[in-house]
Amino acid sequence: MRNVLVFSALLLVCLNVLAQTTYIQAGNILDVKSGKMLSGKTIVVTADTIAQILDGYRSGEGRVVNLQNQTLLPGLIDMHVHIESETSPTKYLETFTLNDADVAYNAQLYAQKTLMAGFTSVRDLGGSGVNVSLRNAINMGKVIGPRIFTAEKALGTTGGHADPTNGYKKELMSDPGPKEGVVNNADDARKAVRQRYKNGADWIKITATGGVLSVAKNGQNPQFTPEEIETIVKTGKDYGLQVAAHAHGDEGMQRAIKAGVKTIEHGTLMSEETADLMIKYNTYYVPTLSAGKFVADKALIKGYYPEVIVPKALEIGPQLQKTFAMAYKKGVPIAFGTDAGVFPHGENAKEFGYMVEAGMTPLEAIQSATTISALVLQAENDLGQIAPGFKADLIAVKSNPLEDINTLNEVSFVMKNGEVVKQ
Ligand SMILES: [Zn+2]
Repeated sequence: MRNVLVFSALLLVCLNVLAQTTYIQAGNILDVKSGKMLSGKTIVVTADTIAQILDGYRSGEGRVVNLQNQTLLPGLIDMHVHIESETSPTKYLETFTLNDADVAYNAQLYAQKTLMAGFTSVRDLGGSGVNVSLRNAINMGKVIGPRIFTAEKALGTTGGHADPTNGYKKELMSDPGPKEGVVNNADDARKAVRQRYKNGADWIKITATGGVLSVAKNGQNPQFTPEEIETIVKTGKDYGLQVAAHAHGDEGMQRAIKAGVKTIEHGTLMSEETADLMIKYNTYYVPTLSAGKFVADKALIKGYYPEVIVPKALEIGPQLQKTFAMAYKKGVPIAFGTDAGVFPHGENAKEFGYMVEAGMTPLEAIQSATTISALVLQAENDLGQIAPGFKADLIAVKSNPLEDINTLNEVSFVMKNGEVVKQ
């Protein structure tokens, strides 16, 4: 055992000495903090870190990447994805037909698509637990994908949006409890959070209100008591886990904000009073406009979703962009998130266009997916900027995204952790 340890340590030392240096000759670099465009620079990457940014086009011992006709940005961050699954009319049936191994193979493909689209980090807000294994496999370099911060299995209440047996026939419903992520009092809430910690989660996700895509009638009612949410936030704090709250209805949103959750997801029926509350509590809004657009479109196709879902999708979908415009105008802090999985993975960057359409400036939209998301992830010294000391997560696009935000839909170069994964 000891020999193995010594050998591993030596190997690490050697790898560090041999750490490859890459010289990226960048036509333009968007400094996302100031919004300034820097021209004709060389980004020097050593191992997984940005070492220096030099004037002019330089080269040296190591690899040279010529991106002189491209604009570079920090790797993008999507704060709301479901990396294990993807929409399809047969999705509900898949609960009964796919084994974990099937889910894992699918998830690997979705992760790859996400990374190739320029998203070098994602926050995964709920799946079955395969998400934790995928995160680990990516971190160990076994498969390709973005850096994942995962909530493992989302928490709900009996019959609530994250009850895994909603809509099943009675023999199959059983009575899921905190182990499965279903809580009905403060003790359950504590146990459910501790169980997520044990299972390897990085975040806690709760479904503070009903949801659009669960097989249940109400898409917006509050589903946790204030005491349950407070217990979840408090227990999370003990274990270093922040809380994200899915919420469509206003009452559930207010309970979650007052209990101290870090982010509100969707926020569809947010009132102006609730927007003010978010500013007061420094709660971040993660809008997921892409999901709203997609479900409203698909609900028009007969049979795409179960009948009970259709009226919810038609109502809630179009409301999102209006809410976003209101929240943005009021000054609610906004972090970028799409709900990818509810629509096809890899199309995450469409969200930028929807945000700009609703009144945000292109620079602010890009900041929401870089510096601001990094701040919410408590990784603001590692992620979200092209600057010395930051992780070498870089993407390149053909035109200036401040003039043409949709250029982010066509990412031509991706580097994650100092490794070129797309060129
Ligand atoms: Zn979601």
